[in-house]
Amino acid sequence: MRYISTRGKAPVLTFSDVLLTGLAVDGGLYLPETWPEFSPSEWKSLRGLPYPELAARIMTPFTEPDIHFETLHTLCKKAYSFFDHPAIVPLTQIDHALFVQELFHGPTLAFKDIALQLLALLFDDILTQRDEYATIIGATSGDTGSAAIEACRSSERLSVVILHPKGRTSEVQRRQMTTVIAPHITNLAVEGTFDDCQDLVKALFADLPFRQELHLSAVNSINWTRIAAQIPYYVQAALTFGAPDREVSFSVPTGNFGNILAAWAARRMGLPIQHLCIGSNRNDILSRFINANDMTIQEVVPSLSPSMDIQISSNFERLLFELLHRDVTACTEIMTHFRASGHMNVPQAVWQEATALFSALSLDDAQTEAEIRHLYQKTGYLADPHSIIGIVAGRRFQQQSIPMIAEATAHPAKFPDAIRAATGVHPSLPHHLADLFHRQERYHTVPVCQESIKSVIRTGVQHKNKTIK
Ligand SMILES: *Cc1c(COP(=O)(O)O)cnc(C)c1O
Repeated sequence: MRYISTRGKAPVLTFSDVLLTGLAVDGGLYLPETWPEFSPSEWKSLRGLPYPELAARIMTPFTEPDIHFETLHTLCKKAYSFFDHPAIVPLTQIDHALFVQELFHGPTLAFKDIALQLLALLFDDILTQRDEYATIIGATSGDTGSAAIEACRSSERLSVVILHPKGRTSEVQRRQMTTVIAPHITNLAVEGTFDDCQDLVKALFADLPFRQELHLSAVNSINWTRIAAQIPYYVQAALTFGAPDREVSFSVPTGNFGNILAAWAARRMGLPIQHLCIGSNRNDILSRFINANDMTIQEVVPSLSPSMDIQISSNFERLLFELLHRDVTACTEIMTHFRASGHMNVPQAVWQEATALFSALSLDDAQTEAEIRHLYQKTGYLADPHSIIGIVAGRRFQQQSIPMIAEATAHPAKFPDAIRAATGVHPSLPHHLADLFHRQERYHTVPVCQESIKSVIRTGVQHKNKTIK
């Protein structure tokens, strides 16, 4: 498969290069040049496969010819061997025709493990083929950083540098990052906000000599491979409910629009998905768009579901590009205007097409807490503050006969304070994390200063490369 940019001015790349590059040089996002489509009999042939094999079959059209099925299958088996549920992405019924698909059985208890565990192995495979090394650098408000560090902890080819805002992540999240102590893992606690961290990462990428010296690369959710690795669980759920003979709908707690875009992609590949529901917290730009064609950036407000505290949903550009029938000029114009003015002018016809498929709902913190309590009292099911928003949206937009599957994106134990406040229950950490609060931590505290950060990174990363050579 070859990949093109949504802005039309970046080189066409193969899968491996898209993986290593992340963002396109024209500021756009990469998408496959054509969408692979599965026929009804091809969907049927996937029924009942173990998850790693299903994942490899769904992704092979995206990775070939760089990576073939056999290799991908081996990597998927390895990536998902660290999950603590044999079904990897199990389904639970919580009401009539309402189901939860749990995506949080990976090592760091959030759905980001599903893509990042595989991404790290793909990076290693490609870098080994090329005999190269790379440094993954990223800013995190919690979940992405821990999932990236965990995924790369035994990598042979990658160094990882993660910037987090000092004192502003939850303790579970910080410890998941800082207790992975290895020469190729560098944790920077930045004396600033998440936005400062993100600006620093952008500045380091813009510093070309530094970028080349360290072979910087990114694993944030604009990396196409992350989307591709999220398609299989939608397929798995739909097949369980009788696809391609029966339709299903999905509901997804949404921030950067990466997870729900994978559901859209599954539909584009021919999976019969009837409806997609977006759940937001008070940072409700996507709900305002779907409900009123109002995509206006507002101040980010902190909420009980921090991984959705986002005002610019980067992956929305991919959907927009498709809804514009891949018109790169229109897409570039709309996105440039959005960045400059804080307001997106989406043509009426495009908006109508979006609302035919998507519904959206947002909950504030008080509603989120009340819904966690209500669900727990009715069913005994503990949903974390992200997952509950998807569940409520799914219930709200459910149509009688069509199964609604709400994606649960984090384990309740990742947000113990919110769960305890809502239900009085203290959710305990799974066995493999039981001693998390007793593990040794290591991180460097750094000021918001590009030069000091560069020197800390150089020391750490050179050390790793020396040990390798
Ligand atoms: C990242 C994250 C989300 C948002 O996913 P997007 O792909 O950014 O829409 C939702 N819930 C949890 C727990 C997350 O970590």
